Amino acid sequence: MDILVIGCGVSGLSCGIRLLEAGFSVQIWARDLPPHTTSNVAAAVWYPYKAYPEHLVVGWSATSYADFVQLAQAPESGVTQRVGIEIFPWAAEDPWWRAAVPSFRHAKASELPDGYRDGYVFVGKRADLPFAPEGTGHWWQMPQGGLDEGEDPEAAALRELEEETGVTSASILGRTRQWYRYDLPQGLVGTAWHGRYRGQTQLWFAARFEGEDSEIDLEPKPGHEREFDAWRWALHRELADLVVPFKRPVYEGVIREFEHFVLGT
Ligand SMILES: Cc1cc2nc3c(=O)[nH]c(=O)nc-3n(C[C@H](O)[C@H](O)[C@H](O)COP(=O)(O)OP(=O)(O)OC[C@H]3O[C@@H](n4cnc5c(N)ncnc54)[C@H](O)[C@@H]3O)c2cc1C
Repeated sequence: MDILVIGCGVSGLSCGIRLLEAGFSVQIWARDLPPHTTSNVAAAVWYPYKAYPEHLVVGWSATSYADFVQLAQAPESGVTQRVGIEIFPWAAEDPWWRAAVPSFRHAKASELPDGYRDGYVFVGKRADLPFAPEGTGHWWQMPQGGLDEGEDPEAAALRELEEETGVTSASILGRTRQWYRYDLPQGLVGTAWHGRYRGQTQLWFAARFEGEDSEIDLEPKPGHEREFDAWRWALHRELADLVVPFKRPVYEGVIREFEHFVLGT
């Protein structure tokens, strides 16, 4: 059987070689030949990056990794193995591709530069309230609430924190330098919040939690509506992806302002 492979980068050449080895007659046609392909300049490091679905990719990665280990034995292959450390300013879970690399391990504390450590921020999963502007869904958010007439913003932040989460063992670390504003998406203006508001203006406070997790209680206090139906500790860098999209720019700004509290920098 004659087989025509289009493209002469790492994919085309690998397919061509494997098909030749399997006994087929192979031709490769390509617009650009090596060394003028992306593969020639940009496929340097083995690392399964943004490749999906992960449960399949991890098997393919194991195969390619084992092949590269073999190839590294032959200097003429151009493949070399080097030990590298990827560092995080937070406690990182095992990478999803861990099973593909038998020698994988976490770095020892002595191998890490100063300032790299864990950081967690509280988020509650919004209760599914049909009348909430976000609609039903799986959106998370940090505790927030409205200022009473004449109320000091810091006192209001601690009051809302207690009303929504039961937490009283918290001390304020700082506030955002600016007030943040978000507009409701067009479809919600006029319906959400009884049509009275177009968006919100917010001042955010960072607080250190000094209690035990058992203090967290999402049951609404008398006279209050339920704000959250679940909670968890989340990494600060996760937050922007957890919130409803129209609040994302606000969260990105707040995270930028408060990141130094988490990282201790
Ligand atoms: C900046 C950068 C860094 C990267 N770093 C890494 C890394 O560290 N590790 C890693 O594994 N991967 C990395 N990648 C990804 C990697 O380079 C690519 O996934 C890989 O090179 C793709 O190989 P390919 O053979 O599919 O495509 P290419 O190498 O792009 O080859 C495509 C071939 O198809 C031909 N062709 C295209 N259109 C036509 C056409 N219409 N008719 C005929 N021929 C055509 C081209 O001329 C070429 O021969 C990186 C990519 C970039 C851009």
